[in-house]
Amino acid sequence: MSQSSPIKLPNMSNYWMPFTANRQFRSMPRLFKAAKGNYFTSIDDRQILDGTAGLWCVPAGHGRTEIATAVGNQLLTLDYAPAFQSSHPLAFEAAERVAAYMPEGLDRIFFTNSGSESADTALKIALAYHRVCGNPLRNKLIGRERGYHGVNFGGIAVGGIAGNRKAFGNGLAGVDHIRNPLDIAKNAFTKGVPADGGVALANEFEQRILTLHDPSTIAALIVEPMQGSAGVVVPPAGYLKRLREICTQYGILLIFDEVITGFGRLGTKFGADYFDVIPDIITCAKGLTNGVVPMGAVAVKREIYDAFMEKSPAGAIELPHGYTYSAIPIACAAAIATLNIFAAERLEDRAAGLSAYFEQAAHSLKGLPMVKDIRNIGLVAGIEFEVIAGKAGAMAFATYLKCFEMGIHVRFTGDIIAISPPLTIEKHEIDRIFNTLADAIKSVA
Ligand code: PLP
Repeated sequence: MSQSSPIKLPNMSNYWMPFTANRQFRSMPRLFKAAKGNYFTSIDDRQILDGTAGLWCVPAGHGRTEIATAVGNQLLTLDYAPAFQSSHPLAFEAAERVAAYMPEGLDRIFFTNSGSESADTALKIALAYHRVCGNPLRNKLIGRERGYHGVNFGGIAVGGIAGNRKAFGNGLAGVDHIRNPLDIAKNAFTKGVPADGGVALANEFEQRILTLHDPSTIAALIVEPMQGSAGVVVPPAGYLKRLREICTQYGILLIFDEVITGFGRLGTKFGADYFDVIPDIITCAKGLTNGVVPMGAVAVKREIYDAFMEKSPAGAIELPHGYTYSAIPIACAAAIATLNIFAAERLEDRAAGLSAYFEQAAHSLKGLPMVKDIRNIGLVAGIEFEVIAGKAGAMAFATYLKCFEMGIHVRFTGDIIAISPPLTIEKHEIDRIFNTLADAIKSVA
């Protein structure tokens, strides 16, 4: 929105915006006042096509009455029930539904309120699991360079996006990182999953734990099946399978952070389904409630849960962890309504059916000025730009602003534009996203 807009803006002095250049924003506010289907309405009454499903969190499209009705009714029936030592039936129903949506075997569900809380919960469960099994020395956590696991202390420690923790230090001791699988020199403009090098890359993990650690000291490895926040990094074929083998061989728990890849984004229910690799723990959030009520979930293999139940002293709290808002009634109502929509509309299949068209549209940007790489999988695409000397991120930010002006919401991270529309997107809207993006790139490059 331009400064000359006649629209009355709110007083913007008090709200400290997250992950936002607050001063820049105030000089050029981008405010939405409504959303329906695949579109936002901006405060100046423009229809903005949502090329990002909000923050990757609105797979079923905006303004779903089924979810709104379920949440509204729930609020008027049971607004809150204490989460510790008591509960309510919908929490168990939501867990049953989430378990049924998970890959087989990951059917014990711990509820949180966000992806960050899910990541920290999964890491804590992994540490506690080894302790409850009598292995307290298995206390190291491994993440990846450019991994993103939210903003809490565990998440920033295992995460590997330098900018996200430069301000805070490293968070935890006993953490190491393995290499990120992105190799632009070799794989630039690959459509979908790069074919080669996956096993060798994964073997670096084994090398690292053998040479720099004793593998029997490693509690867990956490990875995103497809790294979204790092700018759409698709792992090469065989990479995740080999990581699974190594973790199994050395008794290390494998955690998939599926906050972005869960709920249909890759054209399957989870990234685990896409890559046919079953981890020990899956974290999710975002699409779980179609983005309308904060909620996350951690799904663990039954054996892990059983270990806590069998090995903890009788009557003891098996896992001293949880949140006031774990499984609050409205979040459970939203999750069940969202899963009903997924079941009725087969949104994962819809995404899979559109993915070839989407891939074609994304790769039509090849050859435009400054475009250095294009990566895609399911209904996600990343367009990476050359860095303007001394102005890292400037090209992507300018492109994002131009797109907004032209009626498309895209996301930028570093010098990468990420596109991840609602799974309800239509082909003509996919065309519009990438045609507009092309015009924006040409105009700012
Ligand atoms: N993990 C991954 C893989 C994410 O992409 C995100 C957010 O984008 C998070 C965790 C953090 O989720 P939240 O912002 O809900 O805390």
